[in-house]
Amino acid sequence: MNAIARGLSARSELGSERYKERRATALGMVVIIGAGFCGLAAAWELAQHGIKVTVLEQDEEVGGLAGSFAVGNTRLEKFYHHWFTSDTHIMQLITELELQDRLELRATRTGMYYAHNFFRLSSPLDLLRFHALPLCDRLRLGLLVPRMQLIRNWRKLEGLTAADWIRQTSGERVYQVVWQPLLRGKFGAEADKIAAVWLWNKLKLRGGSRRKDGREQLAYLRGGFATLSATLAAAIQAKGGEIKTSTPVRRLLVTNGQVQAVLTDNASFSATHVIATPALPIIADLLHEHVPHTYEQRLRRITYLANICIVLELNRSLSDLYWINVNDPSFPFVGVIEHTNFEPATSYQQRHIVYLSRYLPPNDPFYTQKDAEIVRFSLGHLRRMFPRFNDACLLQSHVWRAAYAQPVVECHYSRLRPSTQTPLANFHIASMAQIYPQDRGTNYAVKQGRETARLLLRLQSE
Ligand SMILES: Cc1cc2nc3c(=O)[nH]c(=O)nc-3n(C[C@H](O)[C@H](O)[C@H](O)COP(=O)(O)OP(=O)(O)OC[C@H]3O[C@@H](n4cnc5c(N)ncnc54)[C@H](O)[C@@H]3O)c2cc1C
Repeated sequence: MNAIARGLSARSELGSERYKERRATALGMVVIIGAGFCGLAAAWELAQHGIKVTVLEQDEEVGGLAGSFAVGNTRLEKFYHHWFTSDTHIMQLITELELQDRLELRATRTGMYYAHNFFRLSSPLDLLRFHALPLCDRLRLGLLVPRMQLIRNWRKLEGLTAADWIRQTSGERVYQVVWQPLLRGKFGAEADKIAAVWLWNKLKLRGGSRRKDGREQLAYLRGGFATLSATLAAAIQAKGGEIKTSTPVRRLLVTNGQVQAVLTDNASFSATHVIATPALPIIADLLHEHVPHTYEQRLRRITYLANICIVLELNRSLSDLYWINVNDPSFPFVGVIEHTNFEPATSYQQRHIVYLSRYLPPNDPFYTQKDAEIVRFSLGHLRRMFPRFNDACLLQSHVWRAAYAQPVVECHYSRLRPSTQTPLANFHIASMAQIYPQDRGTNYAVKQGRETARLLLRLQSE
């Protein structure tokens, strides 16, 4: 038994400074690529054990896909974000960082835009009034969530597409009216490939974040997700961890199958271990010269969709719905999310915040169009949907792009998902696309970051 293992077996010693020192010496310097929630959570876990950790982030700020920008005197997510009440890993982190006083839980209203009509779909009663479907289909649609929640073994669904599974359980009409437009809106040409497991998890998650009256309840922090990421970053630094923003990692220095250092434009960071949290194609680029071609191809096998969020600051509200699914393929966005029907406009100096979300392949010409053209095009469609909306309502607009926004979760995804270990003994992957059977989300990013850090701590103690 080595010194570290002896330390582990002496549980009472776990928190002691002497134990931390021994383990820190053994782990040396851990370099984490990416300061999204996964990278920050990994750094936090390691820093609390006294491990030296450096986080390298290409953006100017921490937060990754859940990053923010300034609106008035507060911060707002570039891409709409909320938590579910069942997001236990986030709730635990919020408690650890003593931010629970800032946590807000609110019931939200969901709806659907279909055949030029808005339908509320927030409660069982709303569903019964959903006259886009005959009554028997409304019941079948309503039964989908409880049916989902009964499924414990997701592996039974692995070979089925979401489309086939919905057709089998709820019938063709429910599929055509409700699910096909949503799947096509989100996954475009990839929609027919999407696995039933993906949808199962989505519905289970949403179903698990409901109040007794059936209404969805979501969580947010006063000051936004930036409050959590900034507090987490400060806590890491207080424990001696370093976070370097505006520092893209360009290359790895590898000898004998071990990463020796992580190279940026003008610096080299010695590393005993590396945890890489960016999207898999970025990791594949970094590993390109150092791993067998077949392994690299495996990382590139998983495809992603990009996302564009058009964020509008308005002087009036569009509706009383937080989340509108757009089930009309003639609209260029799949969701209209009026954030200030969740976190009130008073938090943004009375500005009403609306996100228009569009998923698309990163090589779609729309993705690289100029911001002003994207906004002009989108506003035209928004006027069609809300005739009372006009240009005078618009105070400011922003366009945010993410090239790797959503992994395409195909059937038998468990066979595609790469493991944490790689052909380089001390290079570990903790990327959003590994999250499965759950779908991406900051809750799972935190879980994944912490688990990867614990794996390192265990590896070192063996
Ligand atoms: C439109 C949209 C809506 C979403 N809504 C929600 C929601 O409501 N609730 C929720 O919990 N989650 C939501 N998510 C998902 C959530 O944002 C992600 O699951 C989570 O932020 C992923 O965290 P991560 O740390 O794994 O990855 P990322 O946030 O992608 O972090 C990876 C980091 O690596 C950095 N990086 C990349 N390359 C390099 C390099 N070469 N050198 C250094 N750094 C590099 C990136 O800049 C990034 O900061 C949403 C995502 C999108 C796109």
